[in-house]
Amino acid sequence: MSAMDCTQSRALMSPYIDGELAADRAAALERHLEGCAQCRAAYEIERRMSSAVRDQGERFKAPAHLKARIMSEIERNAQSGGWRDLRYFATGWNPAALAASIVLAAVLGSAATMQYLGGNSEEPLVQEVVAGQIRSLMADHLTDVASSDQHTVKPWFNGKLDFSPPVADFAADGFALAGGRLDYLDHRNVAALVYRHRQHVINVFIWPEAGELGPRLATRQGYNLVYFKRNGMEYWLVSDLNAGELKEFAQRLARASES
Ligand SMILES: [Zn+2]
Repeated sequence: MSAMDCTQSRALMSPYIDGELAADRAAALERHLEGCAQCRAAYEIERRMSSAVRDQGERFKAPAHLKARIMSEIERNAQSGGWRDLRYFATGWNPAALAASIVLAAVLGSAATMQYLGGNSEEPLVQEVVAGQIRSLMADHLTDVASSDQHTVKPWFNGKLDFSPPVADFAADGFALAGGRLDYLDHRNVAALVYRHRQHVINVFIWPEAGELGPRLATRQGYNLVYFKRNGMEYWLVSDLNAGELKEFAQRLARASES
């Protein structure tokens, strides 16, 4: 594996702290941290935040009956297949961890949302994505290419980006492609795909990024965000659509990226 850069290092910190990294990835991250003071500082913040959230979770242990109810709900869903996609999609999550997350979310509210997002290191990007959503709606500049046809939108990006974003339409599932445009996030040009679901606009920002991760959730300024990495691409979804449906749409995008 070639030397890890700071972007990769930041992305891997949270799974590293949670013990979810494979040994070679963990070793590569440790090598990077040894040589990079900035990432060491970011790592220290993230580690402290993570253990603070864990300590809070310990202090507010869910009552046994609540835990039992959540576990049986998850079991029931698992048997009916309801969680199968989610488990497949969210590599590294298991029902127990999921239950712990739900318990944490129930008792901690916004603090748990921070934990989903991996802490401070991702906050600037979260703010950029929200700003991108607001900008696209306010400036009446939602699309550079307005089309519901993926075979029109995908080639439109040719020559405008140094990568080809996956473009799919999900009109049959209620998520209709409305078009695409160029945007600028995280110090680089990115593809922005625009979808509509009922009256809601969904911006999907896509750029190349190594690794598999997600989904992570956040809420900022009334917008819900879902973020994941799949098949060499990083995806950030942002919308005023509710978090449940936005995550469902993220799963559709992830599955589409397989084909
Ligand atoms: Zn670094």
